[in-house]
Amino acid sequence: MQFKDVIGQRPTKALLVQLFREQRVPHAIMLIGPPGNGKLALALAFAQYLNCCGKTDTDSCGVCSSCLKYKKLIHPDLHFTIPVVKTSTLTKPTSTDYLPKWREYFIANPYPLYERWIQMISEENKQGMIYVDEASEIIQKLNRKSYEADYKVSLIWLPETMHLTCANKILKVLEEPPANTLFILVTEEEQRLISTIRSRCQTIRLPRIDEQDLAESLATHPVLAENNPYDIARLANGNFILAEELLKDDEVRRYNHRQYTSLMRAGYGRNLQDLLVWSDEISSIGRIRQLSFLRYCSDFTRENFMSNFKQPELVTMDEEELKFANKFAPFIHDKNVMHLFAEFEKSLKDVASNGNVKAIFTDMALKVSKLIRL
Ligand SMILES: [Zn+2]
Repeated sequence: MQFKDVIGQRPTKALLVQLFREQRVPHAIMLIGPPGNGKLALALAFAQYLNCCGKTDTDSCGVCSSCLKYKKLIHPDLHFTIPVVKTSTLTKPTSTDYLPKWREYFIANPYPLYERWIQMISEENKQGMIYVDEASEIIQKLNRKSYEADYKVSLIWLPETMHLTCANKILKVLEEPPANTLFILVTEEEQRLISTIRSRCQTIRLPRIDEQDLAESLATHPVLAENNPYDIARLANGNFILAEELLKDDEVRRYNHRQYTSLMRAGYGRNLQDLLVWSDEISSIGRIRQLSFLRYCSDFTRENFMSNFKQPELVTMDEEELKFANKFAPFIHDKNVMHLFAEFEKSLKDVASNGNVKAIFTDMALKVSKLIRL
């Protein structure tokens, strides 16, 4: 992780580089800020920067042997402490037990979310925690001779999930760590931390991502499609995780809308060829997306029906949907609306119970074609 991979947050990047250049790197830093603002990514970028052998005035090189090991999270002097869960076979879990999974998760999600991490490692809805046994591991790892790095880094993600006994046990090492050791604690709820932990760290508050910076980053996002990155950045309120969620939801909604309009156009035109092409495509997208599409059919049909009654408070269409609905809504009326719902509902049940999707969607397309011309 290099500084350039962290969205925005320029003042904090500059501050961290300055700490290094003025040889004022403290032995414990606490980064505090809301979810999705990139604090853990920034913590890692800083640790990588400190240990890089080809660093510039603004960033690590990304290619030296230290940077390459940091990239894969396999540097022997980089230690992660993260919340984990107990299982029937792991009754005294520590971060080391979950390290391979954590590497996989974090490399794919450098803006991690506690709930998703716990979901990934736990089948039931468990609470994640940094357990008591973690304390001795932290101390042990740092007391080992440094392998190759200038700085041994102990990165603690969400110290607020730490068991109180564990927190008390690490107080001493946090205050007087072995030489060339840096603790970086990355927290979202500092008020849940005991004050003796807080007081041992130099605290840096990291704000939400600047809207402009977030929009610029989203502009190059692979699932942006025809979304306006500035709209998404504004809605996401400086939270990259939320912005990605919005993009994904929106992408699905756009797709469903396109399929709905194709179905209705081909249906109204009684264009058998187009209806068959449509049912071919919708049969190929997988059951989960098919169910999402069928729910969309019911919802959007209802919205069109309601918009005939000029009750705007019941209509939640976006701009593109409204444009279509302006012309389409009169074709949904009391003679066909309940029949259409019944068709969508029937298809939903059949798809969910593993029916033959090609037959289900061809049949539905032909029935919709009749109903829409009633
Ligand atoms: Zn480097």
